[in-house]
Amino acid sequence: MNKNWFPGIASLLMLGLAAFSFTNKKSNSGKAAVAKIRTIVIDAGHGFRGTIGTRHGSFGTEVSEDQISYEVSKRLVAALQKELPDVKVIESRPTVYFVENRARAEFANSNKGDLFVSIHCNYAPKLREVVKTGTRKETYYVTTGKGKSKKRVKKTRTVPVYRTTYHTNPAHGTETYVFAAHKQDDKEGFILENGDIFNNEEDDGSLNVNINDPIVKQQVALWTKQFFGNSVKLASMVEEDFTGIGRFSRGVKQRQVGIWVLQATAMPSILIELGFLSHRPEEEFLISEAGQQQMAESISRSIKRYKELVEKPTVQNVPNKLP
Ligand SMILES: [Zn+2]
Repeated sequence: MNKNWFPGIASLLMLGLAAFSFTNKKSNSGKAAVAKIRTIVIDAGHGFRGTIGTRHGSFGTEVSEDQISYEVSKRLVAALQKELPDVKVIESRPTVYFVENRARAEFANSNKGDLFVSIHCNYAPKLREVVKTGTRKETYYVTTGKGKSKKRVKKTRTVPVYRTTYHTNPAHGTETYVFAAHKQDDKEGFILENGDIFNNEEDDGSLNVNINDPIVKQQVALWTKQFFGNSVKLASMVEEDFTGIGRFSRGVKQRQVGIWVLQATAMPSILIELGFLSHRPEEEFLISEAGQQQMAESISRSIKRYKELVEKPTVQNVPNKLP
């Protein structure tokens, strides 16, 4: 992850600045810097591969995942702009066309996102069932005797008959993913490379920072932990609100195999699965304009709640003054 050190050095210096300005703020003014959500990145999953003429993502009977994620993302952007007019809302996949994951992460990091929200739809393969339906007679031959008396004898035996059927997978509901905890080293790597994005303060470039400084390393590990905690907070709020509007929630999850884009974004990040396109009632709900709007408004509400929570000074952050 950190093989390429040179381009990362500038970021590291900035990261150091962020660490120092954070420390200085605390000791000089007595006020701790409170995380401000200034830029939110909305990431519509997948996309239309126009040049090849294929869609990307999973499919329902009527729509593909890239279409639904695009529609809901557009509605989410509009809802956020209305709810949080002071926040910059930017899109990593603003058109119907496909964007590579690396470009999405780079977009989020270079635009100094404070939050990354990726929108997807789920899919569960059909269930295969093999049933014994009966038996049938099978003809086979055996060779008996030797030399001139050798002959082929026709025989029959009874064999079972099976039928394979496929059933619609009953899996349905919403899921929100956070980056895998065992992938924290990856996240730390990306934070080291993109550390400057956490610097909410204006830097004057006057500080020199040793990249091997254990304090800087410690700060990075701390941010990773905070981002994980904040990602889980937001993910829980999202799933809670989905339940509130009558959706079935499968909860907050991590994948054994990390979701690359969640590891590569140096900020709290979540990936929302709006529902299963393999489940017809959910597909119908997600195709409907009312359904798309409900999901977008629900996510927007959760983000607003999350923003209020993280921006509220905690007891620890309140200046320690005697009455
Ligand atoms: Zn997807």
